[in-house]
Amino acid sequence: MGKYLSDKKAKELICEIGRRVFDRGLVAANDGNITLRVGEREVWATPTGVSKGYMTPEMLVKMDFDGNVLEGTWTPSSEVKMHLRVYNENKAVGGTVHAHPPTATAYAITGEWIDQPVFAEAIVMLGVVPVASYATPGTQAVPDSVAPYCKDYNCCLLAAHGALTWGADLMQAYYRMEALEHFAKIHMAAVGLQKPAQMLTESQVDELLAIRERVNNGSKAGQIPSNREV
Ligand SMILES: [Zn+2]
Repeated sequence: MGKYLSDKKAKELICEIGRRVFDRGLVAANDGNITLRVGEREVWATPTGVSKGYMTPEMLVKMDFDGNVLEGTWTPSSEVKMHLRVYNENKAVGGTVHAHPPTATAYAITGEWIDQPVFAEAIVMLGVVPVASYATPGTQAVPDSVAPYCKDYNCCLLAAHGALTWGADLMQAYYRMEALEHFAKIHMAAVGLQKPAQMLTESQVDELLAIRERVNNGSKAGQIPSNREV
């Protein structure tokens, strides 16, 4: 890990990302949560019951990786447990975003993984998009459901719920959420054409995986899209 942002900068960035997530329609009403790591075992997190589009820095809560509140007077979201699990499973993570992006969440509802090698940029930005098994929001079952994906993938869909992305920093986690919804829209449009998708070849995918590894400082996270029929 590089240097962490100051508390002030971290809180400002979370509010900025909250506005972007809200403005792009990746959440509605008070949906979604965001965390940003600022120490070996500390994050700033978004509170419960507030629109992500209208947050101010004093609403945010500092927590340790065990879920204890260290600073702040607002109540953290119960979904923060899922974010903390990502940090506990993958020490390279510096930021996480949870949202309910409409098209990607449609895949979460059908339980269909987005795992075909059909879109070059998505292989570099995300890789395979798995679907974590359903868990009742707010319960311990939610962090348990995402745990298997935290190390080897860059995101996951939450069955019948939404999406979770993570990255080396919060900007990367946010861009992955943007890219996930964009990719899901394109994938759904392609499926709607009712013609077979043109799969990239294994060697074309290998070239993209090499690029992905390079832009992610050697990380192989994201897995390899498979060449199955649509
Ligand atoms: Zn949610």
